[in-house]
Parts: sequence; C-alpha cells; structure tokens
Amino acid sequence: MPISDPRGGGEPSPGRAAVATPVHSRLTVLSGPSGVGKSTVIAELNRTCPGIWISVSVTTRRPRPGEVDGREYHFVDDDEFDRLVASDALLEWAQFAGNRYGTPRDPLNRKLEAGIACLLEIDLAGARQVRRAVPGARLVFLAPPSWDELVRRLTGRGTESAEVMDRRLAAARDELAAAGEFEVTLVNTSVQDVCRQLVALMKH
Ligand code: 5GP
Repeated sequence: MPISDPRGGGEPSPGRAAVATPVHSRLTVLSGPSGVGKSTVIAELNRTCPGIWISVSVTTRRPRPGEVDGREYHFVDDDEFDRLVASDALLEWAQFAGNRYGTPRDPLNRKLEAGIACLLEIDLAGARQVRRAVPGARLVFLAPPSWDELVRRLTGRGTESAEVMDRRLAAARDELAAAGEFEVTLVNTSVQDVCRQLVALMKH
C-alpha cells in the first residue's frame, strides 16, 4: 500500500498536526451517522465531479462484497494500522463499531498544497480531530430525513451481524446528537441534491 510517512510515532496529535498542516479552506469533511448515505454521496461525487479529490481511508474492517482495495478503502490488518499510527502517517483516526479507520496524511496534504478541493468522509470522532488539526476545514453533517429512515437504511443493508448493527445504531444516536457541532447540515432526501449542495459549498 503506497502510504507511509515514517516521521516518528505517537497517537494522532492535534497540536503537532496543526503545526504541520496550514489553514485550508479547501478541505471539507462530510460526517454523519452510519447508514445515512455518505458512501452513496461519495460514489456519486466520484462519478460526476472529477474536480474534487476524495480521500481514500485505511481501515481494519473487512471488505464488503463489491468493495475494492484502494477504491472504497485501503484494507489493512491490525499490525499495518498500528504501524501507520506509530509513524504519524494518519491525519486522524478513530475506532468505529469494532474497527479502526484513518485518513492518510500525505496524499491529502499533496492535493491541498496543489490547491485542489478535497473531501473526507469520516465519523464524528474523526471530524472533531480534523476540526482541531486543520483550521479552516469546513465541517458538513449529513442527516437522515428521520430516525426511522436511518434505521431502515442501516438494517436494510444486510451486510452486518446483529451485534455490529446494534453498535452502529448506538453510534448513530450519538452522532445525530452532535449535529450542532457542524457548520452546515444537509438532509439526505436525494443523493443528487446533496451532491449539488456539497459542490456549491466546496466552490464557495
Ligand atoms: P463503514 O464501515 O460503514 O464503511 O464506515 C463506518 C464509519 O467509519 C462511517 O461513519 C465512516 O464515515 C467512517 N470512516 C470512514 N473512513 C474514516 C476515516 O478515515 N476516519 C474516520 N475517523 N472515520 C472514517
């Protein structure tokens, strides 16, 4: 996997990241509860907006059917994730429903330095880290039309065990409660509308 940046260990440190990372209004973070449709929005943006660079995260989660290594995620084992954390190669990382997820720092910095609009699709804990680490980053919350609709989407996916589903629903409750921390909330009633609104924000 072409992600390495051996510059000395430690947990993601907001202080250090803030020094290493200049102010970037070109960086947008899309967050929101699992099942709200973030990955559908990302897939649509990938298809329709080549001008926006979308970060590919690393995860210790196993690929779902149809997911391709290097496209949806860089799928890594626990040891590799530990190495990435220890070498400070991740801008942020978080544990979510039993797996770890993180944003590779170097590819993102290269795109931002080139002036390209960048998008991260990450969970609430990750969004909070980015808010501290990258002054000027724009935080966008994707909300479901209703709680019932979110439960329907999450359970309808059918790719997770009952235990994982319970963890995701619990996380979703916490994430929804944090919507007020974000600058902008978009309600996912239509993927196309959300994409249009997101692109308009990112061009602003
Ligand atoms: P999933 O397993 O459904 O693909 O993702 C689970 C959660 O992890 C989602 O809320 C997704 O936004 C989040 N996630 C994906 N990539 C990252 C990342 O790089 N960092 C963090 N903190 N969360 C991520």
